[in-house]
Amino acid sequence: MGISTGAQRCLEVFNPATGEKIADVPITPPEKVGEAISRARHAFQIWRQLSVAHRARYLYAARDWIIDHQDEIIETICSETGKPRTEALVAEVFYCCDLLGYYAKNSERYLKDEIRSPHLLKTKRVFVVYQPLGVVGVISPWNFPFTLTMGDVVPALMAGNTVILKPSEYTPLTGLLVERIFREVGLPENVLQTICGYGDTGAALVDHCDGVAFTGSVATGKKVAERAAQRLIPVLLELGGKDPMIVLKDADLERAANACVWGALSNAGQMCMSVERVYVEAPVYDEFVQKVVEKVKALRQGSEKRFGEVDVGPLTMLKQLETVERHVRDAVEKGAKILIGGKRKDRLFFEPTVLVNVDHSMQIMREETFGPVIPIMKVNSVEEALQLANDSIYGLAASIFTKDKALGLRLARHLEAGNVCVNDCITNFAILEAPYGGAKQSGLGRRHGEWGLRQFTWPQTIVVDRFGLKRELFWYPYSERVARWVAKAIRLLYRRGLREKFSARR
Ligand code: NAD
Repeated sequence: MGISTGAQRCLEVFNPATGEKIADVPITPPEKVGEAISRARHAFQIWRQLSVAHRARYLYAARDWIIDHQDEIIETICSETGKPRTEALVAEVFYCCDLLGYYAKNSERYLKDEIRSPHLLKTKRVFVVYQPLGVVGVISPWNFPFTLTMGDVVPALMAGNTVILKPSEYTPLTGLLVERIFREVGLPENVLQTICGYGDTGAALVDHCDGVAFTGSVATGKKVAERAAQRLIPVLLELGGKDPMIVLKDADLERAANACVWGALSNAGQMCMSVERVYVEAPVYDEFVQKVVEKVKALRQGSEKRFGEVDVGPLTMLKQLETVERHVRDAVEKGAKILIGGKRKDRLFFEPTVLVNVDHSMQIMREETFGPVIPIMKVNSVEEALQLANDSIYGLAASIFTKDKALGLRLARHLEAGNVCVNDCITNFAILEAPYGGAKQSGLGRRHGEWGLRQFTWPQTIVVDRFGLKRELFWYPYSERVARWVAKAIRLLYRRGLREKFSARR
């Protein structure tokens, strides 16, 4: 990725697996973002009037389009991220098909007006109505460019908003593909627009839109939140993680080691929910480490033409590779030992790496590495594992391996993470019925389920008077008689014991 010279500024898109340049994509400069917003505001007036069932039709049609164009979608994703095709198929195409169907099917129920019956003011009828925010800005990252874009675009549209998408500067082609899918299934004009560019284009979007869904790093997330605060618009933040895995001495070590290797290395470790650090109880530490090293040794790394040729791809960009190198170097300088891997191969490939003798003085245990590295630390008790797992500014996901599921469930509650798996990892993201999001600095707001939809709305309460009396008791003019009556009512309603006595006498 870079800037090409010429009349219009462009993003230059490169294939990280081959180094080949694949496209020039025109940049929308920040000063042009307002025009896209005006178009989106105009489209909003029509889009918001459509029924949820009508909007759902576009989602089903988009799903059909995806099914019919799987190869093209996978090709686009892989060409700009370098990931293995299986990962694009499972974690992006499959997920998006499921997501589209889920919100097409459930949005009507989640957005339906609710009737609340007041416990006190029985003379009123109360409705809660979910109103769309207006124009939603979706700012997405490069690591899962299809999934994490659709993940916000779909619920934002279903909630009645129009959307302007700003994909990552590293993966604009997938962002443009999302726009094309909806255009080709007939979504009305300007209901979804894509603008490409760098952070300044994203910042301009935050300055104009009515709500932001941001997925990316903690550092940028804070900037987005600050900017959104200037206009007090709602902001959803899905940020980074440093996710711990805990392996207890009674765990099924084979399953735990398989989960660890896949959880840490899939997408070359460039996943917000990657297993980024591992704590293993002393009695099983040696056996676990040996299993992990054997499994890592068997992995195939490279770029592929057909499904199943490789397991681990390259890092998507140089700055990511440099972060990984810096963390490994820092760990080794402070006493860590490399059991396998540890260095850069050609281009953007970094060898899958296992580190031991690590501790919390090292960057590899504290900062998001976002690369194919598994640091494993020996612990002497469950308490120590929990304390170390929680010793982080992040709180996105965590996992615990134990044959005692009841213990796993109990320990899960002690982990300061938005998503915890017992004897599993990462799969929580595929459970669309449950909220997904971060604790601590890993984010604000939740994807999926009714939470993921309603956060793109503002709830409006509408109260309707039932009986039409000429005046309410509390309205003007005030009188001593009414005040005495209210004081009595307060005692009767809220004084403990009196209520019971009163109802017993009746
Ligand atoms: P990033 O923060 O560098 O960029 C994310 C997006 O923000 C890009 O589109 C970028 O152009 C834009 N941007 C940059 N500066 C901006 C600004 N000042 N205002 C508005 N927009 C701006 O993140 P990245 O490197 O693309 O993604 C990797 C990060 O994302 C990792 O930290 C990862 O953990 C996190 N992530 C989190 C989740 C989650 O669900 N919690 C999912 C995937 C990735």
